[in-house]
Amino acid sequence: MTAPRVTGRLGIDVGGTKVALRLETASQGTTSQGTTDQEAGGRSREAVFRWSVGAPAETDLRDLGAGVRALCAEWDGQVTAIGVAMPATVDSDGRVTTWPSRPSWAGLRLGQALRDLVPGAQVALADDGDLAALAEAHHAGAANLVYLGVGTGIGGGIVLGGRLCPGPARGSCEIGHLVIALDGPLCRCGRRGCLQALASGPATLHRATRLRAHPAGAADAEVTYPQLQAGWESGESWAREAVEATAQALAGAVTGLTELVRPDLAVIGGGFADGLAGFVDAVAARTEAMARPGHPAVSVRAAQGGLSSLTGAVLLARDLEDPD
Ligand SMILES: [Zn+2]
Repeated sequence: MTAPRVTGRLGIDVGGTKVALRLETASQGTTSQGTTDQEAGGRSREAVFRWSVGAPAETDLRDLGAGVRALCAEWDGQVTAIGVAMPATVDSDGRVTTWPSRPSWAGLRLGQALRDLVPGAQVALADDGDLAALAEAHHAGAANLVYLGVGTGIGGGIVLGGRLCPGPARGSCEIGHLVIALDGPLCRCGRRGCLQALASGPATLHRATRLRAHPAGAADAEVTYPQLQAGWESGESWAREAVEATAQALAGAVTGLTELVRPDLAVIGGGFADGLAGFVDAVAARTEAMARPGHPAVSVRAAQGGLSSLTGAVLLARDLEDPD
């Protein structure tokens, strides 16, 4: 038997209902657009499969193995590095500690399972927010970047010198739980004043609901996201106030992060932010207003978006192969 002629890196984006896989050859690299270079004809291959509904972790692992084997079928190479994007909490040994979407995964040694599945491969797992930051940094050509994704919660990550901070072996970057208001509202983590307790999508909708005037005696119906979008775009004062408080909280987080790690760029993304025209400009303006003398504010831009965690997972695998 001859030795494999090529090596490959594998990215795995694990979701609650489905899994995306991408295999690319080690010499392939990624383009400045953050997408894999397929010009050489089929050197990158992708696949998606769905988890069986309600299946235990053992079945999921078997399905994952089948998915990886199918992707690598008829490919004469050796996978040497695997990067995994996980929405769950994973410890430094690659063991899943909690995952509400698939509870049977608690305790699963995913890192070891992948090393058993692909002998000889290095494996790293990271939070999907961290990997979105890595993908945004790669796209922007910025070695030092902070990314904040505003949605149901607030995710994000920090990239320093082109690498994730604090790094996959040291846990995920939990920007959503950065405390920015000591007397702020309760976070679901039990603490007061976390960023996501003030600036997540649901937190903003709750604030908008409190601010919106309603006829005496009318039910205090929760403001919906489409209502907030319409109110923001038409300049309704309740919507403006609610959204601008969110922009202020994000600007506070960006300013604090800038004092700590001096990023070249701050990027704001996530479904909630993407749907409000001018929202990122509002964060940028408030960040600018918080600059202190001699320390210019960092540039704040909208995320490129569409940079899936899968791209970040492949970049994480690349970093394993190229530790310098
Ligand atoms: Zn919290």
